[in-house]
Amino acid sequence: MSLVYIGLGANLDQPQQQLEQALIELAQLPNSTLISHSSLYHSKPIGPQNQPDYINAVALIETDLTPLALLDTLQQLEQDHGRIRKRHWGERTLDLDIILIDDQTINSERLTIPHPFAQQRSFVLIPLFEISPQLVFPDGTALEQLLTELDNDLIRIRD
Ligand code: ATP
Ligand code: CA
Ligand code: CA
Repeated sequence: MSLVYIGLGANLDQPQQQLEQALIELAQLPNSTLISHSSLYHSKPIGPQNQPDYINAVALIETDLTPLALLDTLQQLEQDHGRIRKRHWGERTLDLDIILIDDQTINSERLTIPHPFAQQRSFVLIPLFEISPQLVFPDGTALEQLLTELDNDLIRIRD
């Protein structure tokens, strides 16, 4: 059994609904339980700037799936949401990134854990802080410390 943080993002085809639906689907993953999730947030795109703003959130699940089985399942969900890869860091209907798996470090062809850019991305760290303010990365970096060095450029969507 592993505790896994998943970052969700979308900026096409009613992104708020894409994320709300994805949270329902995460709650139905096989051999898994949805423990909690953050609010939804508006964020500016990274990479190409000529694309819509994003909606982001972070979810925490408990799962018996192996890391690669979880990645397969999340990529299938992205496909079910009609994701088409056009350009690097480009627009998408749904992106599901595995941010952390317990305190594991993984460097394989398909999977890097912790997610390589998590510590630099406010759209990951701010929702993460909302659900787990005491979180410490496997390298010993405290989430709270990262946030003191970061602009809060997100807008939280009230539910
Ligand atoms: P970024 O990874 O910078 O957020 P992205 O989400 O746009 O960019 P994708 O096109 O969704 O990138 O994913 C490319 C590949 O990244 C996937 O096929 C997957 O094998 C790999 N990958 C490596 N580590 C992870 C991870 N922690 N979570 C999800 N995918 C990962
Ligand atoms: Ca991503
Ligand atoms: Ca991704």
